[in-house]
Amino acid sequence: MRRKLAAGNWKMNGLRADLAELQTLAERHSDATVDILICPPATLICACQETLFDIGGQDCHAVTAGAHTGDISAQMLADAGATYVITGHSERRADHAETDSMIAAKSMAAYAAGLSTVICIGETLAERDAGTTLDIIDRQLAGSVPANATAYNTVIAYEPVWAIGTGKVPTLAQIGQVHAHIRARLTARFTDGDNMRILYGGSVKGSNAAEIFAVPEVDGALVGGASLKADDFSPIITALAAS
Ligand code: PEP
Repeated sequence: MRRKLAAGNWKMNGLRADLAELQTLAERHSDATVDILICPPATLICACQETLFDIGGQDCHAVTAGAHTGDISAQMLADAGATYVITGHSERRADHAETDSMIAAKSMAAYAAGLSTVICIGETLAERDAGTTLDIIDRQLAGSVPANATAYNTVIAYEPVWAIGTGKVPTLAQIGQVHAHIRARLTARFTDGDNMRILYGGSVKGSNAAEIFAVPEVDGALVGGASLKADDFSPIITALAAS
């Protein structure tokens, strides 16, 4: 049985004043029947400890400590109170030239620190137009997801790059096709692959959440823009709980 997960990625947004949004969210969803994960900027992780939610980092370095100015290790995230970390977000892949093998190394560092990972995969528009979406998914799954991933320590987020922050969403059939493909690959590779959660991410909003959550093999969402405000994230959580 896979427990549904609503995950919010605040990206490089959020000051201490914005923690009031989490307070509001907690008041509305104190009895949530789904898991709720908030990934604020690293500066807010300690301050989020009072919330009811799971807290995650947005990236980690592959090594535990050392001369890596500006980076943050998985162990530091855990020490600050995080229990998850996002790895392989397309903005990291694009802005920081992160490769599949780097993402696998970061994910292994996360496991070693006791964190669970949300490993992001997804095709660009050019790749979709070229008909190579499933090839890209296969390459990223094989290269980014470590051999010691389990349903306990790993969540996969399918995020078509062209749907992130654009307001464009794949058709439900397209989402269903990719999620079914990911499920088949996970089940073939991991003994507990059937229990690994697969999130959809890319312009999820209160207005489209219910139909996306009705797609088979969609176990929740990774939400960017609509996770910043309680009024926007709350309907997504409610739709997930009702799905
Ligand atoms: C994301 O950044 O992971 C994301 C899904 O963003 P948005 O919801 O804003 O498209």
